[in-house]
Amino acid sequence: MLIRGSITEVEIIDLNHTGQGVAKIDNFVVFVSVAITGDVVEIEITETKKNYAVGQIINIVKPSEFRIKSPCEHYEQCGGCQLMHMDYNKQLKYKKNRVINELNRADVKFEESVVEDTIGMKDPYRYRNKTAFSVTEKNNEILIGPYEQGTYNTVDISSCMLQSKEADDVVKAFKNLMIKYDIKAYDKNTRQGVVRNIVIRNNRRNELMLIIVTTAEKFQNKDDLVAEITSLVPSIKTVVQNINDKYTNLILGRKNITIYGEGTITDTIDDLIFTISPETFFQINPVQTEKLYQKAIQYADIGKDDICFDIYCGIGTISLMAAKKAKKVYGVEIVEQSIINARENAKKNNINNIEFFAGKAEIIVPKLYKQNIKADIVIVDPPRKGCEKEVIDTIINMSPKKVVYVSCNPSTLARDIKLLENSGYKLKKTQPVDQFPWTVHVETVILLRRLDA
Ligand code: SAH
Repeated sequence: MLIRGSITEVEIIDLNHTGQGVAKIDNFVVFVSVAITGDVVEIEITETKKNYAVGQIINIVKPSEFRIKSPCEHYEQCGGCQLMHMDYNKQLKYKKNRVINELNRADVKFEESVVEDTIGMKDPYRYRNKTAFSVTEKNNEILIGPYEQGTYNTVDISSCMLQSKEADDVVKAFKNLMIKYDIKAYDKNTRQGVVRNIVIRNNRRNELMLIIVTTAEKFQNKDDLVAEITSLVPSIKTVVQNINDKYTNLILGRKNITIYGEGTITDTIDDLIFTISPETFFQINPVQTEKLYQKAIQYADIGKDDICFDIYCGIGTISLMAAKKAKKVYGVEIVEQSIINARENAKKNNINNIEFFAGKAEIIVPKLYKQNIKADIVIVDPPRKGCEKEVIDTIINMSPKKVVYVSCNPSTLARDIKLLENSGYKLKKTQPVDQFPWTVHVETVILLRRLDA
């Protein structure tokens, strides 16, 4: 029986899905944060539960050969990344193994050789095209940054290695200007103050959109702030003020006011152009998204007579790529605004053989099937919880020759693949893609083919 507060030496034998190291003491599992396979560490037991315990490193006795010094000084405090102490190539292997383990756990029948090595980034830094930071005040100092692991306390950061250099510049300049003009940060407890958050979005040409989230429309020296920040960081092409006067942890409120530039920026995926406004959903790492979706399109191998479904289509990225090859594409998505954007994107890119439906996939897809609309190829890209049972059942009834499954969660992916396997589909190809270097997240695209197709 492990006792809280006891100190012991363990070897880390594995990593769990949240990126914690796994050790065993007399066959009892202990999870250790910021530890990796191969580490020998002295830990203090900080929590004991029925089936596992949690330990904290107090001393690294022998570091794993894959352990590196974190390239970010804020790593251990910030809740954003989980694997910054691990060699990048090892991260890619860990992600591939996660996919294999989850498929095995769900008892999917496949040869390990069909699982490709994870597609990584050549330069796995500064890949994010969006960062949302909170702005608070503590002991008369302005803090700007992400939240601390597991809390709503702001970590004041000078630089984030995942966001663009220009975004770092914006954070610094914004803080200095708040100090210069004595602009108050919002305080959640007293509900006083003005600036709640800043959101920075950029495209691949490093053109920036700065969104300043405030409690009220008017605040002192607003015009000076905007004039100075846009001249200090000329990559800022537009500044939008977003008003959020609610008592909420949601970042954006309903009202946007463009105070500099056009209010939007554009970005590209493949050769398609997308308009991004403050509330538009857009993939966070467009470089890797492009690789992921190109793989999905390659797996789908769409012919000119094929009817395709893109279920959970967001702003229609995959749908538009598919439409360039297919006879017709049907896109389904629950968020109305995303469907509005998807339709605009189709128009902007002169794509007409496409129809978008706003609503729950579990309602819309069975409805389309009842209207005798059938897909030759189905592409799904669901959220973490995977596909609803009704969606899988309808796909099975529709009986497309191929299903391409894009997933951000290998465990629900494996569950759904097993259901399709039980109904006459075979897993043919699997490609993990690293969309979020330094974090535990892994994206996967899988090709399933109908056995008789
Ligand atoms: N393929 C999209 C993004 C997929 S992310 C793109 O490239 O942009 C998953 C999407 O599923 C999100 O846009 C989310 O809003 C949507 N979603 C979540 N639950 C849904 C449901 N029940 N029915 C339809 N769409 C849903």
